[in-house]
Amino acid sequence: MATPSGIISTTGVGGLTLGGGHGYLSRKLGLTIDNLLEAEVVLADGRVVTASESRHPDLFWALRGGGGNFGVVTSFVFRLHPVTNVVAGPTVWPVAATPEVLTWYREFLPTQPDDLYGFFATMTVPPGDPFPAELHLQKACGVVWCYTGDPADADEVFAPVRALAPQREGIGSVPYPALQSAFDALYPKGLQWYWRGNFVRDVPDAAVSVHTRFAEELPSMQSTMHLYPIDGAVHQVGPADTAWSYRDVTYSQVIAGVDPDPANADAIKRWTVDYSEACRPYSAGGAYVNFMMDEGEDRVRATYQGNYQRLAEIKAVYDPDNILRINQNLPPRR
Ligand SMILES: Cc1cc2nc3c(=O)[nH]c(=O)nc-3n(C[C@H](O)[C@H](O)[C@H](O)COP(=O)(O)OP(=O)(O)OC[C@H]3O[C@@H](n4cnc5c(N)ncnc54)[C@H](O)[C@@H]3O)c2cc1C
Repeated sequence: MATPSGIISTTGVGGLTLGGGHGYLSRKLGLTIDNLLEAEVVLADGRVVTASESRHPDLFWALRGGGGNFGVVTSFVFRLHPVTNVVAGPTVWPVAATPEVLTWYREFLPTQPDDLYGFFATMTVPPGDPFPAELHLQKACGVVWCYTGDPADADEVFAPVRALAPQREGIGSVPYPALQSAFDALYPKGLQWYWRGNFVRDVPDAAVSVHTRFAEELPSMQSTMHLYPIDGAVHQVGPADTAWSYRDVTYSQVIAGVDPDPANADAIKRWTVDYSEACRPYSAGGAYVNFMMDEGEDRVRATYQGNYQRLAEIKAVYDPDNILRINQNLPPRR
């Protein structure tokens, strides 16, 4: 049994859920918050309440995307779905193929059933399994796939992917937790991170050029850019049904400068910020709150769009003194 969550199994359930939560199961089953049934919350005044569709429904609405603004969640109840083996894994091409692969990807995935998920990435090939030694530390682009449909159809589903002749293909039948933890070792605790996000409706040719340029300039082995699909079941929930308002975009983009050495902090930050600024013309406006740094109130407001005022009013009820403010803050407003 599973519910949608992140692509790295060690990611904390608290922050991930309250910010929205997207991952391998999201085209089929929606965001993590779309599967949240109930949360136990310690409020700013010390009261403990249960939030659900029928109990504190305003609070329940705000928790689903509004981050840590409304209380400290001490337990979640999720809707679970049977997910056993998936046909999944990475396909990798040389970085020079980024224009061809990204152009193909933007046309291909939206036409596929929700059973097929694949996030696009630019990266440096990690020096280890499942990648052959000749690819280690080469700059690359790729897609990490997860197919939850009938395994008997998998060859047909992946035929167009194989037709694009990836340098390395690691697609096979694996238990879902094996896929979800496949990249855990690449991102251990203690790394330096600087990241930026963007919601993206489409990827025009000019944006493809930007991605290709910054892929060639990746500043460290762990730095990466991902485009996570935000379509399928995520679009079946309305923009005002939960606090997570960007229900009509196609991707949630993350640009992550990552390195173990603090001496490289400036280099990973510069690449991330320059890349993010270059993507601005192709952004839908806001970003997934879980991929934002301290970018100011206007950026938070842009991210919640028409839901911002209602969030500020609910904040005024549950945390009028803004005690919970070390977050993507929603100041209380009546
Ligand atoms: C390697 C990596 C991979 C990731 N992949 C994905 C992905 O695939 N999909 C995705 O959606 N996100 C992904 N993320 C982003 C992730 O959702 C955020 O980093 C999230 O904040 C992690 O949750 P956490 O509980 O560890 O947060 P923390 O860093 O512990 O907290 C962040 C904030 O969340 C709030 N918070 C956390 N727990 C609670 C709680 N119990 N009650 C109230 N507020 C709380 C607080 O405001 C806190 O300041 C990834 C992050 C990393 C580092």
